[in-house]
Amino acid sequence: MATLTTKTGQVVDRSILESLLRRRLFYFPAFEVYGGVSGLYDYGPPGCALQANIIDLWRKHFILEEDMLEVDTTMLTPHEVLKTSGHVDKFADWMCKDPKTGEIFRADHLVEEVLEARLRGDKEARGQQVQVDEEKEAKKKKKAKDTKAVKLDDAVVAEYEEVLAQIDNYDGEGLAELIKKYDIRNPRTDGPVLPPVAFNLMFQTSIGPSSNMPGYLRPETAQGQFLSFQKLLDFNQQQMPFASASIGKSFRNEISPRSGLLRVREFLMAEIEHFVDPEGGKKHPRFHEVQDEVLSLLSRDVQLSGSTQTEDMTIGKAVSTGLVDNETLGYFLARIQMFLLKIGVDRSKLRFRQHMLNEMAHYAADCWDAELLTSYGWIECVGCADRSAYDLTVHKNKTGAPLVVRETRAEPLKVEEWQIDIDKKKFGPRFKKDGKTVEAAIEALSQDLREKLALDLEKDGKIEIDVEGVGSGKVELDKDLIKIEKRTRIEHVREYTPNVIEPSFGIGRILYSLLEHSYWSRPEDEARGVLSFPPAVAPTKVLLVPLSNHESFRPLCQRLSMKLRRAGIASKVDDSSASIGKRYARNDELGTPFGITVDFQSVKDNTFTLRDRDTTKQVRASEEEILQAIKSLVDGEETWEDVRKRLPEFTGQELD
Ligand code: AMP
Repeated sequence: MATLTTKTGQVVDRSILESLLRRRLFYFPAFEVYGGVSGLYDYGPPGCALQANIIDLWRKHFILEEDMLEVDTTMLTPHEVLKTSGHVDKFADWMCKDPKTGEIFRADHLVEEVLEARLRGDKEARGQQVQVDEEKEAKKKKKAKDTKAVKLDDAVVAEYEEVLAQIDNYDGEGLAELIKKYDIRNPRTDGPVLPPVAFNLMFQTSIGPSSNMPGYLRPETAQGQFLSFQKLLDFNQQQMPFASASIGKSFRNEISPRSGLLRVREFLMAEIEHFVDPEGGKKHPRFHEVQDEVLSLLSRDVQLSGSTQTEDMTIGKAVSTGLVDNETLGYFLARIQMFLLKIGVDRSKLRFRQHMLNEMAHYAADCWDAELLTSYGWIECVGCADRSAYDLTVHKNKTGAPLVVRETRAEPLKVEEWQIDIDKKKFGPRFKKDGKTVEAAIEALSQDLREKLALDLEKDGKIEIDVEGVGSGKVELDKDLIKIEKRTRIEHVREYTPNVIEPSFGIGRILYSLLEHSYWSRPEDEARGVLSFPPAVAPTKVLLVPLSNHESFRPLCQRLSMKLRRAGIASKVDDSSASIGKRYARNDELGTPFGITVDFQSVKDNTFTLRDRDTTKQVRASEEEILQAIKSLVDGEETWEDVRKRLPEFTGQELD
């Protein structure tokens, strides 16, 4: 469990931050009056504005800057699509049940929880300071029998640490072994748990009134993008490489949603599918622009050695040494970091962790997660995977759709290859509705296999091939149906299936981590929390505060408000009777970066004070100068320091 400190070095007390977020209506449990449903949350006004601003920056940083093709595809997805993509069979987590209490645990989380508790107990027994999250600790003290101060052998401590460093590397069998070996039990009751079983995370439904079209709520936005590939390539005038992008909701029936917004059942994703030619080392034309960006990297090898020590390295070096597989993947890792820093993520709480081999899908070439440090530990907020040609290939094989790129060759190419001819007249009547699937499977046979099958066909007069989803999964083809021959072909057009680099952002996780990274409290008064969002993402940019509810202030407030609105700058007037200090404190909690005070001097000479949230310092200048300063601060053209240097400081007014 991580101890998170604020930018002022205070330990983040999550319960105080959470109560602020609820009080200020950033987000709250959905259906609360009905008792709520775990893993479902609603966002209130500041949460919506913050999310919209993050998305706005994301769109500018990726879609506009990189000329990506945005699509908005449906969330309801037919069974067949997700069967082909592998989600129906493999999109699962491992869960174990306590047969006595009926409680269900996510197996890897259970192992993690129990081993971490034992390590804490060991530290306590050794008299070392234990840093734990207060809330969790309090719960455990009440209920768990596993947090006793028990000293462990040094070798056992090392073993536990090694297991925890690579907890994502275990499959169901591996987790079953850990549960047995370390006698992992229900931490609440100390009762045994059953071996893990797979639980598919997709929400199933049926499309249409006849219930004969099973479907799912999509678990990611990616599949819709892959299926639009051909149309987008045409739209892009056959130019490669290019990327599609999509922002939309995804759904996962998480086994045990926990940690607030970090593990929920419905969440906003922003995903990019960058399609690249697999030949030529997946170079990126703009890699030189980012090659000096330094990233904090946690490699696979370091994790396997049982350590979580990161290494700072330029992305240029990480790619040239082969640690990061290729330039395109490296380019996106750097761009992801630049985006996260732009929205206000704390650089010291950001690392890139490489997936271990078991953790990665079998087809993936390399995969890195951008993880953010929160009071819940390091959390994966952006996944960035090189998915090779997997997705386009499976959909092409299943449907026969030409999800490929065709390029005219500068020089025609002579190709010697094994070709298969199908006797279409006999093929159709023989396979009927499965014809397309069988044909696609034949088309997908590799050259090596074709050579072997040609010999078998010659020898036995028939062959057998694997065709997933048809009959027993094997299909027999005889000499009457197909012919396999080695021929020479002159190729004028090169056809290939692009590889896909996929950066995938969980907006809720990023938003919550940003809340933790932005939070601190005024050293002189711990109850006064501040959310230091950068102006560009802050829900409201300017607070207008009249000194009192004196009549003469009203027209000035209205005029300033109208001018800010016209400039597209979100502002709020707070003319409540609370003291100016209280009004500012309220808006510090909402993360409002600037405040304009309207006082009697303003009525006389049309000058106003402008206050900076983080320093609480103020400057005083004419209306025009103040509005211009706000615009350049919000647009990121100037910092507060720049403004403070060029406009006269104001110290006259007591805030509290
Ligand atoms: P994945 O496809 O599993 O790599 O997930 C992509 C991104 O979606 C992750 O990096 C997370 O930011 C986000 N994500 C995945 N599952 C959840 C969840 N249950 N709740 C919130 N965000 C999630």
